[in-house]
Amino acid sequence: MQYDVVIGLEIHAELKTKTKVFCSCKNEFGAMPNANTCPVCTGMPGALPIINKKAVELCIKAGLCFDCKISDYAVMERKNYFYPDLSKAYQISQMVYPICVGGHIDLESGKRMRLNRIHLEEDAGKLTHISKSIGSLVDYNRGGTPLIEIVTEPDFSSASEVDEFLKRVREALVFAGIADCKMEEGGMRCDVNLSLKPQGSKEFGTRTEMKNLNSFKSVTRAIEYEIKRQTEVLNSGEKVMQETRKWDDAKGKNMTMRSKEEAQDYRYFPDPDILPISITDGDVKKIKDEMPQLPAQRRAKYIEEYGLTAQDAKQLTTSKYVSDYFENCVALLNLPKKISNWILTDLLRLVKDQEEFVFPIDEKRLVQIIQMVEDKKVTKALGLELLELCQSSEKMPEELAKEHNMIANITAQQIEEILVKFISDNPKAVEDAKSDPKAMGFIIGHVMKCTQGKANGALVRQLVDKLILQK
Ligand code: ADP
Ligand code: MG
Ligand code: ZN
Repeated sequence: MQYDVVIGLEIHAELKTKTKVFCSCKNEFGAMPNANTCPVCTGMPGALPIINKKAVELCIKAGLCFDCKISDYAVMERKNYFYPDLSKAYQISQMVYPICVGGHIDLESGKRMRLNRIHLEEDAGKLTHISKSIGSLVDYNRGGTPLIEIVTEPDFSSASEVDEFLKRVREALVFAGIADCKMEEGGMRCDVNLSLKPQGSKEFGTRTEMKNLNSFKSVTRAIEYEIKRQTEVLNSGEKVMQETRKWDDAKGKNMTMRSKEEAQDYRYFPDPDILPISITDGDVKKIKDEMPQLPAQRRAKYIEEYGLTAQDAKQLTTSKYVSDYFENCVALLNLPKKISNWILTDLLRLVKDQEEFVFPIDEKRLVQIIQMVEDKKVTKALGLELLELCQSSEKMPEELAKEHNMIANITAQQIEEILVKFISDNPKAVEDAKSDPKAMGFIIGHVMKCTQGKANGALVRQLVDKLILQK
């Protein structure tokens, strides 16, 4: 039997705020265990939460990235369950009135993946299980830090669609400064809901939810494993059980975590300590005005308006820094293709520290070098030398070129003299040049060598033409 695959995602991302979402404790990774805690985020009786405006703004920003509708009225609710990493015995989340509703991402194929919602909630603490006799340790530093949860519609039908989608989500959240999305640090987590149905059938099958997927690769592997597992279950005439399954990346398989029967009733209700959130059109507009253009739109512009290849457009949008740098250059000198080549082949090479990624020279100086090469004031080789020189100097390239005697100031007469001597010394090469462009290149190269690359290329060509080819 052939089956259609149906997948829906629940994606959590840690928001980039300075403080937690319902108290003023620091939101940072890697502090001493329980250093960033207070009565609110450890759930002491009687402690009262406040709400972090920045977290609400970042959630709205995420909604704007994916064309969601921003609610004018949102409510924080209590999701009740007990687990030691959540000492309040409830998580503050959103149920009936989330901040963002709907939205979508269009994949490269044109297929539209719909979002159901994006809501704001708090993260739980972290448990470290030591041993049966000693027990477990709990660190509440992460407890109460802000998360967004992006819930999609069940629109995906393969691991590769999920992979592309997750990369687009991460790219947008990082670009817009909403989240760092470091999957290895748990900064972005994804749960995969997956079911199969007979090919072409309208009705959905029973789904499982897979947790503990902490890299893009493990998401893909886990999906492929689960498709195979469910196919075998169905083909053997059995039913897929609705359950939560835990992915074990080392073993390359998943296992039951809890079945539907064990599923909790969360008894959601509005948190009486937090007032409903009111969001005006003015609030949304203000946030929209601060948003950078997203990578997908930038790529489209680079390809359609600037005529770049898809590959180059992709490379230029790997980070906001590189993309902004490129656009600043284009604003100074309207030669996007040339600038793209310089950045991708000559400048990227010079970046030493991939962590603290910065180009060694600013846009103004790069553009001046490109301009000089385009005007044939210096050769490309000298342009590259200028790039090197700029790294250890604050001076503008034109000044450096003068100081290092690089500017093409060889006169036509000097070039003619070199050519005349060449003609009398190498009659054979001169004959060859009339029929063989390679030999012609050799003569031009000879003039360049004699002038240390400072002759104007166009002028040399013109004189070679006059003194050799026309003869
Ligand atoms: P719950 O609240 O129980 O987690 P939701 O209706 O919110 O259930 O759905 C959670 C996720 O599961 C969503 O991403 C949704 O797209 C996905 N989903 C729902 N039904 C199916 C199904 N039959 N197969 C695959 N994914 C599904
Ligand atoms: Mg769910
Ligand atoms: Zn706190």
